[in-house]
Amino acid sequence: MPSVTSRRATPSPVPAFEIRRSAIAGAGAYALRLIKKGEKIIEYVGERVSHPVADARYDDAAEHDHHTFLFAVSSRTVIDATVGGNDSRFINHSCEPNCETEIEKGRVFVFALRDIKVGEELAYDYAYERDGTETEKEERYYKCLCGSPMCRGTIMEPKSELLKRQRAKQRALAKKRKAVKKKTKAKKPSKR
Ligand SMILES: [Zn+2]
Repeated sequence: MPSVTSRRATPSPVPAFEIRRSAIAGAGAYALRLIKKGEKIIEYVGERVSHPVADARYDDAAEHDHHTFLFAVSSRTVIDATVGGNDSRFINHSCEPNCETEIEKGRVFVFALRDIKVGEELAYDYAYERDGTETEKEERYYKCLCGSPMCRGTIMEPKSELLKRQRAKQRALAKKRKAVKKKTKAKKPSKR
């Protein structure tokens, strides 16, 4: 596979990583030089599409192969790295990652969480967002084989993250209801 890595993402003339066969999952990204903690390694690029478009493209295929190259940027936008993607799409998932992704003004970048030595495989936590409707089949499907002692067993986010989101939503809703109640109460006297 040709390595076009990081020509645009890192100022260093030596590419940060190359793509090799991974023992765990197909291809993987391996450090070619020391990558310092905090380094912006590469941008996750590809075609920007809506969630419905991405779903239509891969829902059926995903039954057989979840190695599609999608990154959910927001509730509106998904990056499909199958179209115009770079080597960042080969970075695998780990429950004990040495990289993380950050979204800056709608663009996704991969950063080093710690110093990464030559030959180490790069990985970040995919933490696919749950919506609470995950079936057992899906749970099996997104099973994690990262081999870390910290492995949570799934490349989906921990269930606690979904609970946290749901609770925050409920709190926000309750606040809104309270505000509406106050407003209607405040209005009443002026109507009389
Ligand atoms: Zn794992």
